[in-house]
Amino acid sequence: MKRLAILGSTGSVGRSTLDVAARHPDRFAVTALAAGRNDALLLEQCIAHRPAHAVLADADAAERLRGAVAARGLATQVHCGRDALDGIVALAEVDAVMAAIVGAAGLPATLAAARAGKQVLLANKEALVMSGALFMKAVAEGDATLLPIDSEHSAIFQSLPRGFVCGRAGELERAGVRRILLTASGGPFRATPADRLSRVTPQQAVAHPNWVMGPKISVDSATMMNKGLEVIEAHWLFGAPLEAIQVIVHPQSVIHSMVEYADGSVVAQLGAPDMRTPIACALAFPERIESGAAPLDFTTLGRLDFERLDAAKFPCVALAREAIRRGGTAPAALNAANEIAVEAFLGGRLSFTGIAEVIENVLGEVHVEPLESLEQVYAADIEARGLASRFIARRVPQSSLSV
Ligand code: NDP
Repeated sequence: MKRLAILGSTGSVGRSTLDVAARHPDRFAVTALAAGRNDALLLEQCIAHRPAHAVLADADAAERLRGAVAARGLATQVHCGRDALDGIVALAEVDAVMAAIVGAAGLPATLAAARAGKQVLLANKEALVMSGALFMKAVAEGDATLLPIDSEHSAIFQSLPRGFVCGRAGELERAGVRRILLTASGGPFRATPADRLSRVTPQQAVAHPNWVMGPKISVDSATMMNKGLEVIEAHWLFGAPLEAIQVIVHPQSVIHSMVEYADGSVVAQLGAPDMRTPIACALAFPERIESGAAPLDFTTLGRLDFERLDAAKFPCVALAREAIRRGGTAPAALNAANEIAVEAFLGGRLSFTGIAEVIENVLGEVHVEPLESLEQVYAADIEARGLASRFIARRVPQSSLSV
């Protein structure tokens, strides 16, 4: 029986994780659930999965949940705040931690899980983006096992030889890997002319053609910053130099990514676009279990297309590569600027094309230093958020936006 802590259980990845776990009650027990402020859904999940612990970031929401749990006679202990979350992931009765809190908020608990030597099922890409070197050090020192959840990184992991260890130096060379081919759907605006992008709305941006995801990552897919963050993620997870990671647009999202070997062979992982497949793959690793995802029907697929990335139309991928080249705290600044810009876009305070402009501007101004501590990550995060907010406030007359 694998005992799970699911961080971000009320979100898209968290709900899919509970769905897969519930299909295999003989394999998985839910020990802890955590979310931000959605006490109503967390209560439903506590009733259905009976975790020993539930954590909410918001104090009022935690108080409401505590009352509701007591009223129903559930044994779940309700906790609140960041320290509680760090403690829960390190509990001896937790074997695996699904790290699926969105954004920078997920970083401390994901690091705590790595330090505690847990099996870390990593959806929260921001942990790697913001603190790549520190996070991989925590994984090595804690002797944690890192299993990717992002569909592309799961696909790469599945296309690598059995026994490949994420985060161990020299693994790619030993495996004879020449390139990682990271596929991208191109998002909802792949075919939209570049000169129309400044007028697209949040509703259009979150309508992803293939995947159902949370709003932040959906906008990241639309700007293709998601692919930029994934380049950074692949760089750290697989120890791949930037030149060895190529982004290929593949609109059908059937091939989730590929690995090219020295002998010219390319190994790909295919499947329906359903996060339950990579989640099941990591939950049961190294075994395979039923996930609930529909099988791929090759007779109706018709065709698979591939295109070159339009780097001028989607500058966020190049910005992410630039952040890794600059190193140190630059990726943390990139991530923070992106979070602020996406929030402003979703709130109607910034145009779609303004997102990349804000990030470029912040990267140009932010102070970058070699990364040695988490405090530096937070300092870069705060500085970049401040710069991004000021840039947005200066730049955008409200009336010019069509939301
Ligand atoms: P959602 O927005 O759907 O869910 C986010 C989750 O994080 C919610 O449970 C939310 O709780 C919780 N949360 C937010 N802030 C806090 C906080 N301060 N403390 C504790 N919990 C918090 O996001 P997704 O599920 O889409 O994405 C989660 C992560 O997985 C992201 O890092 C994303 O990049 C990554 N990912 C997602 C994929 C997808 O298909 N969705 C694919 C690959 C990676 P509440 O509901 O209470 O606000």
